[in-house]
Amino acid sequence: MSQRILIVEDNKTLAKLISKKIASTLEIEVDVAYSMGEAKLFLKRYKYFLTLLDINLPDAPNGEIVDYVLGKGQKVIILSGNIDKDFRKKMLKKNIIDYVNKGGINDINYIIHTIQRLRKNQNHTVLVVDDSMVFRKTMQGMLENMFFKVISVAHGEEAMGMINSKKDISLVITDYNMPVMDGLELTFEIRKEFSKTDLCIIAISSNGDEEVNALFLKQGANDYITKPFSKEEFSCRINNSIEALENIQIVTNHANRDFLTGLYNRRYFFESMIQYEEDTKESGEKFAIAMIDIDHFKNVNDTYGHDIGDKVIVALSEILRTSTNHRDIVSRFGGEEFCVVLKNINRYSALDIFNRIREEVENFSYEVSKEKFVKFTISIGATMYNEESLEESINQADLMLYNAKNNGRNQVVFEEL
Ligand code: GH3
Ligand code: MG
Ligand code: MG
Repeated sequence: MSQRILIVEDNKTLAKLISKKIASTLEIEVDVAYSMGEAKLFLKRYKYFLTLLDINLPDAPNGEIVDYVLGKGQKVIILSGNIDKDFRKKMLKKNIIDYVNKGGINDINYIIHTIQRLRKNQNHTVLVVDDSMVFRKTMQGMLENMFFKVISVAHGEEAMGMINSKKDISLVITDYNMPVMDGLELTFEIRKEFSKTDLCIIAISSNGDEEVNALFLKQGANDYITKPFSKEEFSCRINNSIEALENIQIVTNHANRDFLTGLYNRRYFFESMIQYEEDTKESGEKFAIAMIDIDHFKNVNDTYGHDIGDKVIVALSEILRTSTNHRDIVSRFGGEEFCVVLKNINRYSALDIFNRIREEVENFSYEVSKEKFVKFTISIGATMYNEESLEESINQADLMLYNAKNNGRNQVVFEEL
């Protein structure tokens, strides 16, 4: 999708103000048209991420531009100084995203915030669960208009299947009355596995169902919307929930990840391994643990400075990340020391992966400046988890790392069976 915005507004000062603010805060290309005629020319040339339309233009005084632009398959936000209620209602019936005021600086900030929101919505998948096809389609349309990826299903069981097979769903919007599994049961089932940190649930209930609303909230729904609802209420509630989810995830990421590399930190490593260790005891799945340390890293710092040292650490973490599976755990324990867990693997394959990582690092050069490169190597101590305890295995890996260093570094020492 092209990242370009069209503003159609005959008040030149205002148009320039909005376009400047958008271009500078959002790093997005902005075109400005002062009339419907000019807008038509732009629309011939570009496909827009979004259009902002004044409904009172010299050559289109009554919002005529709205239908024209919607007809071109473009997304529309209406800019208005008009507070006439009926006109606003009429406009909101159309397939527009929002109807916003344009007078003050707060209004411009609201527009910027809305555009940011819509951009981020592109990364979220919403699952709509409703047995009425008409309603499902209506909601799907509204959500797609808000730039979400949307999946829709007809009842709770289908929804559970979808959630379990497709793990990146951010929001579930569920109806209450459905065959097979109703919305409350679905909420209950989802919350057994996914907390509010993982995904949001919004319930749709019918007028007069106050009790059901309370039950939904107790069962772990983030919010509810009562039918019939306006498009504006719908989009505000959805955006609020998604924003809350994003904020929680930012905070969680801060707590679980190392600031320099973005890898998991030591705390998160141990926290997540508790559950995994339990699971493997039941399933018998095998996994390998490695301690990895940069050789003579002190020399890198001494020769090139601490900042370059940091960049080398980041480069190594990138290699570790790309050389492993997304299920594996790559964490930075501190300094230039990393711990990697390869899940569901035997000794033979694990040794192969660790050897390849060691080799890749040996062949890698970090470019400090033109024709000036830093080369470095790593030592790896590894072991298969032996069902004693995680700590024990890590100590074993540490001991193997010590041996690798003593044997001359730049090598993998894997504990013998
Ligand atoms: P060896 O091969 O035995 O591992 O030698 P080494 O020099 O890598 O090991 P040593 O433990 O003596 O030194 C590690 C150095 O790493 C010392 C410390 O200043 C540096 N260091 C630790 N954390 C960071 C960091 O976050 N950034 C940078 N740039 N340096 C770090
Ligand atoms: Mg005007
Ligand atoms: Mg070292």
